[in-house]
Amino acid sequence: MKVLSVASEVYPLIKTGGLADVAGALPAALSTHGVDMQVLLPGYQQVMAKLRNPVPVIRFDDLLGVRATILASTIDGVDYLVLDAPELFDRAGGPYTDAANADHRDNWRRFAALSRAAANIAEGALDDWTPDIVHAHDWQAGLTPVYMMQGKAASTPTVMTIHNIAFQGQFGPDIFPELGLPQSVFSVDGIEYYGDVSFLKGGLQMATAITTVSPTYAQEIRTPAFGMGLDGLINARADSLHGIVNGIDTDVWDPASDRMIAANYSLAKPKKRQHNRKALAEHFGFGDTDKPVFTVVSRLTWQKGIDVLTELADDIVAMGGRLAVLGSGDKALETALLSAAERHPGDIGLVIGYNEPLSHLMQAGGDMILVPSRFEPCGLTQLYGLRYGNVPVVARTGGLADTIVDANEAATAAEVATGFQFFPVTPDALREALRRAIRTFSQPKAWAQLQNQGMKADVSWDRSALRYASLYTELLTAKSKK
Ligand code: ADP
Repeated sequence: MKVLSVASEVYPLIKTGGLADVAGALPAALSTHGVDMQVLLPGYQQVMAKLRNPVPVIRFDDLLGVRATILASTIDGVDYLVLDAPELFDRAGGPYTDAANADHRDNWRRFAALSRAAANIAEGALDDWTPDIVHAHDWQAGLTPVYMMQGKAASTPTVMTIHNIAFQGQFGPDIFPELGLPQSVFSVDGIEYYGDVSFLKGGLQMATAITTVSPTYAQEIRTPAFGMGLDGLINARADSLHGIVNGIDTDVWDPASDRMIAANYSLAKPKKRQHNRKALAEHFGFGDTDKPVFTVVSRLTWQKGIDVLTELADDIVAMGGRLAVLGSGDKALETALLSAAERHPGDIGLVIGYNEPLSHLMQAGGDMILVPSRFEPCGLTQLYGLRYGNVPVVARTGGLADTIVDANEAATAAEVATGFQFFPVTPDALREALRRAIRTFSQPKAWAQLQNQGMKADVSWDRSALRYASLYTELLTAKSKK
């Protein structure tokens, strides 16, 4: 079965968040289920620099107004198709923002071009490979099913995956004529959204199936509180909606072989974890290492509940804990965390920025990973925490609710607990969870058991890859019956 996956970021070529991890892990996870996946992504500077022996396979003289080439390149067994369009992607900054952190003004054209190219591939533009299924991720790939409906690939099944419904790709109506779509598509049943153009809405409207990254989030986005204006549409399409929890790449994230950490360890040989604890303490300027260290690896935003965490910074220290934060995001939150770190040198440490190796050491050397998100489609850092013995303390929402078993009395007795959950996302509820975690941490046997249960949890792609593969098969079977 041939599947084209379309995403705006794919680890290890380019990453700003969980989407990259997922899009990067799927090809290998699905290959064992007979899926031949190629991954289409934009040729940002960071991506172009990493390509090996790229081969031009499609040339466009006019892809939504720009010249472009699709380059094929296989790296570490993954087949990439890279949209090399210098006018759109050869520029400084991140995938979505410029060096000053402002959205690129032509993001609509950049990602419409990505989707247009995907549709061309679906229509047979490559000599030797035409996908049976097209899998589009998030709003940046949202127009893929829309373009496909207009041409030769209209009957090719499509899957639209929502990694975060808060990001919808909404633009003014003035861009519509530039998209090369018939006027009829600018309607309530198409990509029109309260007078604007919405890329995600278009994808959700036109895709054969919709998935999101956890069963709880699949239910949550059907409600006004989580649906961000699209709950009506999601409800209308509920029969085609599937919640499939993310796995993690257990080769990249394996404490027994991870080269980015200070010392390797495993469930069978946990002792060397201590070296990582020490290395982390040194990195953040902490002194003696016996106090429990709460870690945070996150975008610093309201969604992630970082404001609530910041309010509790003094309490954490008063309770005898430490806090190590790696992240970047809202300036006000960065400033508030910096001032907490200044108030508590040696107990609160902050690294602002994006640092992949440090994010691994945080998991290997921390005692708890804190994820106080107001909403969380799946969340990955709690899964890395499980695998690394960094006990998750999470809000009971979305994928956090699905992947962490709270250490309540029953779960503790049944030896299935893996972390701590709290709800709602308020300072009081979070404080109580931190207190519970610290109390358990002070009982070494109970703590070791909790860490062990987490490290034993299956966080691999095995089950979820099977679910994607089954969904693809279902869609193809349904198509053949038509
Ligand atoms: P989201 O995609 O909403 O940001 P996820 O938990 O799904 O959240 O995924 C976040 C991913 O980004 C994880 O792999 C996490 O380790 C990584 N990450 C987040 N912030 C940083 C950072 N400052 N440095 C390194 N990695 C980070």
